[in-house]
Amino acid sequence: MLLTKESLFSMFRFVALLWQENTARLSEIDSRFGDGDHGVTIGKMADLILSRLNERQNESAKGFIESLGSGCMEIAGGSAGPLYGVLLEGLAGPLSDGDTEITPVTLKAMFSSTRSALFEITKARVGDKTLMDVLIPATEAAENAPDDILSILQAAAEAASRGLRETENQVSKFGRARNYGEKTLGTPDVGAVSTALLFKGFQRGVEEHILQC
Ligand SMILES: [Mg+2]
Repeated sequence: MLLTKESLFSMFRFVALLWQENTARLSEIDSRFGDGDHGVTIGKMADLILSRLNERQNESAKGFIESLGSGCMEIAGGSAGPLYGVLLEGLAGPLSDGDTEITPVTLKAMFSSTRSALFEITKARVGDKTLMDVLIPATEAAENAPDDILSILQAAAEAASRGLRETENQVSKFGRARNYGEKTLGTPDVGAVSTALLFKGFQRGVEEHILQC
């Protein structure tokens, strides 16, 4: 199975829906050790995805993901917009303009590319209680999965969920939350929560699209 553009659109539609459903929870978690705006920023990104899904049906997969990336870059209010902008542009990196379908090997390369892109803008690694605690294991699990679209997305979502749970046992070392030290134990990192939803949305989007076909 190849990842068609319709499946790709379904992936992003599910990410947007999951993000919209969770904006209040994200802001509540962010309010404990941050400025409480993560849900607002994520809600803006969800709106952006849904409007681009309506406007850009005829665009290439690469052009579509890049337009999401540049749109997120422009979302003001903290680091989340630019971080997700880099994440999305990293995903688009291995695609060529003419690609209408994505192979499993290319999908793995997209995940590897987004990890490399984030490594360039943050020093956070596994254990630092940031979105990298989700992104690193999820993209590594994707690379180690069988060359099958659904297996890759399932492996990524499962590793993302495990990485997210680990952040509850960690002390924040980055961002405003680091000022709270051990008080952050027991609370997941809010960026890790939204990134785990991204990987879950990718998986569900393809699963639902398969069911419809
Ligand atoms: Mg914030």
